[in-house]
Amino acid sequence: MKPSLEVLPLNSWVETNGKPLIISGPCSAETEEQLVETARQLSQLGAVHVIRAGVWKPRTRPGSFEGMGKAALPWIQRAKAETGLPFAVEVATPEHIELALKYGVDILWVGARTTVNPFNVQEIADALRGVDVPVLVKNPVNPDLALWIGAFERIAGAGITKLGAIHRGFSTGEASKYRNVPLWQMAIELKSTFPNLPIIGDPSHMAGKRAYLQELAQMQMDLNYDGLIVESHIDPDNAWSDAAQQLTPAAFGEMLEHLHIRKADSPNLEFQNALEQIRSKIDNVDRQLVETLAARMALVEKLAEYKRDNNVTVFQPERWKEVHETRAKQGKKMGLYPELVEEIFKIIHMESIRKQTEVMNSNEQSA
Ligand code: PEP
Ligand code: MN
Repeated sequence: MKPSLEVLPLNSWVETNGKPLIISGPCSAETEEQLVETARQLSQLGAVHVIRAGVWKPRTRPGSFEGMGKAALPWIQRAKAETGLPFAVEVATPEHIELALKYGVDILWVGARTTVNPFNVQEIADALRGVDVPVLVKNPVNPDLALWIGAFERIAGAGITKLGAIHRGFSTGEASKYRNVPLWQMAIELKSTFPNLPIIGDPSHMAGKRAYLQELAQMQMDLNYDGLIVESHIDPDNAWSDAAQQLTPAAFGEMLEHLHIRKADSPNLEFQNALEQIRSKIDNVDRQLVETLAARMALVEKLAEYKRDNNVTVFQPERWKEVHETRAKQGKKMGLYPELVEEIFKIIHMESIRKQTEVMNSNEQSA
């Protein structure tokens, strides 16, 4: 059964005048002064629709700053009163939800360390039953699309229709220049599972470092995300959590100015025709790609039969090394991103080994 979700459009719960939704604020509410002043400076930018702050901080290791908890909630009320902007807070338990709503928090989000646990998510969903509040769900820490989908199903199952996803990247164990690997495909697959679900990019937690925020935010805008959530702080270097990735409100304003926001589509007929033509050429090239792959696999099959009949092993490291190196070099010469060619050939090789093993273990001898 294909999952489906009843989701209201973003503009039914937040006014952005057709622009991407911009959420910003400190990683954590630290002091009343820090929170209110950050919110004030952000609201002066005139481009921020919602203020965020962490009140309860789920930390991977104990001993880090775990949030001010309930004490920070009256500060949120003050920040809201002074800026007139709605406020978003992370919740991880029914108690957090109750307190946040009691103090007038407008939008809730479920953090990446909570989305991983269906028990937690179900508790949150149960506590949300009968409540009319927008809920954003961050991707789980580990790259498991089903967990992310499941969280939406649980929360939607409790009757929440003001929903959105936050893509903050994944912990994969592989070295990466970013704190969390984007795995764009995961967000794209979530969007194709739930086409109406708004997606908000979180370049801050993806980047982990200020230097990478702009490029990630731009990528998210180019992928037609519905908004951004970016951490900002009046004194980022001295922030009590996530110091390396936060921006001053002024720097955030500059980042927004440099963002190139493209249209998702254009009604211009000439443009549409050109697009159609290029797409049909791409369709052709893709067909050739598939045919070429099939031809390669047919050769691999033949090769396997010879290997089987001569009792030679499937995997021959020198040959693979040669294939790998020459293809990467060819790709580079053609101006292709080297990792693309490498990754494609890794997959092709995996399939080739699978196919050869299958042939080797079939008893038929070739003529
Ligand atoms: C946060 O938004 O401050 C946070 C804790 O993020 P994540 O759940 O993505 O790690
Ligand atoms: Mn943070």
